[in-house]
Amino acid sequence: MKRIAILGSTGSIGTQTLNVVRRHPDLFKVSALTAHSNAALLGAQAAEFRPAFHGLQKDDALNRPEVYDADIVVAAVTGTVGLSVLVNALKRGVKQIALANKEAIVAGGDYAAALIRNHREKGVNVIPVDSEHSAIFQCLRGDEGRELKRVILTASGGPFLRRDPETSENVAKEEVLKHPTFKMGAKISTDSATMVNKGMEVIEAKFLFGLRNEQIDVIVHPQSVIHSIAEFTDGSHFAQMSYPDMEIPIAYALTYPDRVVTGMSARPIDFAALKALTFEPLSETQFPCFRLCRQAMLAGGVMTCALAAADEEAVAAFLAGAIRFTQIYDIIDAVLNTIKNRPARDFEEIMRAEAEARGAAAERIRALHK
Ligand code: NDP
Ligand code: MG
Repeated sequence: MKRIAILGSTGSIGTQTLNVVRRHPDLFKVSALTAHSNAALLGAQAAEFRPAFHGLQKDDALNRPEVYDADIVVAAVTGTVGLSVLVNALKRGVKQIALANKEAIVAGGDYAAALIRNHREKGVNVIPVDSEHSAIFQCLRGDEGRELKRVILTASGGPFLRRDPETSENVAKEEVLKHPTFKMGAKISTDSATMVNKGMEVIEAKFLFGLRNEQIDVIVHPQSVIHSIAEFTDGSHFAQMSYPDMEIPIAYALTYPDRVVTGMSARPIDFAALKALTFEPLSETQFPCFRLCRQAMLAGGVMTCALAAADEEAVAAFLAGAIRFTQIYDIIDAVLNTIKNRPARDFEEIMRAEAEARGAAAERIRALHK
């Protein structure tokens, strides 16, 4: 019986994690649940799962020691606050972290990568939940990645794959939140529409798997059946496939190295019904934000943190109706041109860069209103 703490339990990943727990009451006992402000749903979850602790952000839930008294911590919060979750969990000796929150790795950069590496040597597992990274993690199983040549992350293309970018300026929030294959939180849905999500996933892959920039490619694959591909030096390519259902990578991160049945995993893929799996290149003209992510990754240092923080501010402003969709690009671009780069040496340096980037983004958002 594993004791599991779910941080961000009221969100898309959080509630799907609880679905996995519900299916396997013999394997898991919920020890803690946290949310930002959705007290009603958190209360209902606490009544059902009876954790020793549940709390909201106003109670400083993510910094409470009892939250990390667990065998597995599921980092399902959204935004760069996830870096504190990762650091807290590792420092408090949690042995297994199911990491959905990609912003933790993007913001944490070299610092987060080194922290994870050092803990891995002590038998601590940080297992990605993001479907692409779960796929790569599974493709590398039984191999330490020594002969890995490159990874190819698949992208559904999001809601605007076929949209003429000239018409993007006035897209409504409702169109952005309508993802073709996944039902997700508002922040990641917006990131999928701008392709910042895929850009952040490229950065996440670099730091999680210790890859060089040029070892990470992206291909658009609208059916979302192949979740990513690992290419080895002999020309062999391994892909992980399933119907798109986040319960599958969530369950894998909870039961690794074992596998359990959950969600759609009991349903074999009907290849004859699928008929074809298709692929096409990702257009940086169509998705200029993707280029900004690559640019931040190439710059390294605290620039990926600046990217994550600027994006979070820009997306919040878009969702609040304060800026237009295409201005998300302008804000990230402006912030990347404002922040002075330096190494992502330690947590404090990253927190300073994050605050600077948020300040610069807020200033830019105000300027757009003048
Ligand atoms: P949601 O917005 O649906 O849920 C976010 C959760 O985190 C909620 O429980 C929310 O609480 C809580 N939360 C939000 N902000 C804070 C904060 N500042 N402090 C503490 N808690 C907070 O997001 P998703 O579940 O879609 O995504 C979570 C993470 O997983 C993201 O980093 C995303 O990129 C990643 N991910 C998600 C996928 C998906 O399919 N949804 C796929 C791959 C990765 P409240 O409800 O009270 O606001
Ligand atoms: Mg993903």
